[in-house]
Amino acid sequence: MALSVVDLYRDILPKTNCGECGFPTCLAFASMVVSEKLPLERCPHLSAETIAKCRPELEEQYARGKWTRRDPAKDALEWARRRAASMAPEDLPGRIGGRLAVDADGNKVLELPYFNRLLYVYPDRVVLQNGESLNRWEQVFIFNHIAQGGSSLPSGQWKSLDQIPNTISKVKSMQAHVLEPLARLFSGRGNLLAEASARLGGELIDQKQFGADLAAVFHPLPRIPLLLLFWDREPEEGFEARVSILFDGTIVEHLDIESIIFMCERLAELLQEEAGVF
Ligand code: SF4
Repeated sequence: MALSVVDLYRDILPKTNCGECGFPTCLAFASMVVSEKLPLERCPHLSAETIAKCRPELEEQYARGKWTRRDPAKDALEWARRRAASMAPEDLPGRIGGRLAVDADGNKVLELPYFNRLLYVYPDRVVLQNGESLNRWEQVFIFNHIAQGGSSLPSGQWKSLDQIPNTISKVKSMQAHVLEPLARLFSGRGNLLAEASARLGGELIDQKQFGADLAAVFHPLPRIPLLLLFWDREPEEGFEARVSILFDGTIVEHLDIESIIFMCERLAELLQEEAGVF
């Protein structure tokens, strides 16, 4: 039998709302026990006997994932790993770039250029060449690229996100989580953006052809270039700074839409780190 929030509140907790567990009410505490696996021991008013009686039921429902809050990054990573697992490593360099290499422990790995650094891709994880782990969302888009990536080379035709099919629901997210934060961060600091871009391996190209103040081509992955455009603020004209990111027309052969957003979020974070501004 499982213990729901209501069961815990009604049958187990004292219902005095004393707050000693760190939560304002017994109901709030019950919710944290059920969904976040907070130990029942955090309520000092429960006897050892009561806690021992509840433990097997709680552990059993945690093991089944019943009522526990999902961890989206964990789920996405497991899904992406499973998708990538069926790909033969020896086919990957010809398809998505990089090369097969041997790490310091003699393991065969896929070595993949990633911005201005090198990745080692193992079946269960992706790390930087120095052994530092990538964050889970980064690993998600890299495993998705391994699973999905076609062998097309970049076409040289740039497209904005809204020109890519089925992206309407993601355009706002890109604006809110990538483009606007970058524009705010580098507003009035175009030189800093140029320096950070160069440090991240971005190639500064002629910005005038795009009518922008800065244009930089990045290579997050060998088959996936991104073009970042920046227009600085013009206070006299009443214009705020603006950023746009364009994708090669082949991108949908290499990455799903969610992964495109993860990759752009990572670009924004890395530019911020390289610029040293927070
Ligand atoms: S310490 Fe126990 S009794 Fe007090 S609010 Fe928390 S759960 Fe309720």
